[in-house]
Amino acid sequence: MANLRSLIRDIPDYPKPGILYRDITPLLADADALHEAVDQMAAPFLDAGVDVVAAAEARGFIFGTPLAMRLGAGFVPIRKPGKLPFDLHSFAYQLEYGTDELQIHVDGIQPGQRVLVVDDLLATGGTVEACLRLLEKCDADVVGCSFLLHLEAFGGEARLEPYHVHSVLKYS
Ligand code: IMP
Repeated sequence: MANLRSLIRDIPDYPKPGILYRDITPLLADADALHEAVDQMAAPFLDAGVDVVAAAEARGFIFGTPLAMRLGAGFVPIRKPGKLPFDLHSFAYQLEYGTDELQIHVDGIQPGQRVLVVDDLLATGGTVEACLRLLEKCDADVVGCSFLLHLEAFGGEARLEPYHVHSVLKYS
């Protein structure tokens, strides 16, 4: 079995001084590790009756589509403004400096569909919290959230309550 943790590269002071960036690109480039990562992200949800995986650009897309295929589900993209062509639900959220916004097609998810939210990494939870608010506007039945990495010190899990949060690699 691939040692996933050994394929996460730590980059000090990126993108700003004082930040320890966890770089997943060595893991993505390793065929066995990528396969193992997708399997482990999907594992708790194999029998959850997931209809749709939803993920935000850009890195959510890397894992969202293979997870959807693993779970026999469809994939719905959540994107930054100006990228989706049809009628939209939007949700604006606070960043450290300024605001950001995510959008989903109004017909991307049918009311009551069972949805798994996927991203590469959980830090403050701001990104996935915005996805959850959009899915609530769609009246989705969210079965949980799945991440490759969880940086526990940023407190994101509490922000995603009461939803089920699964992560493959935890960093305290
Ligand atoms: P959050 O919204 O604070 O939970 O941040 C999660 C988002 O920021 C994810 O979509 C990640 O792609 C990105 N991110 C934050 N910190 C890191 C990191 O150390 N490595 C890779 N991506 C990161």
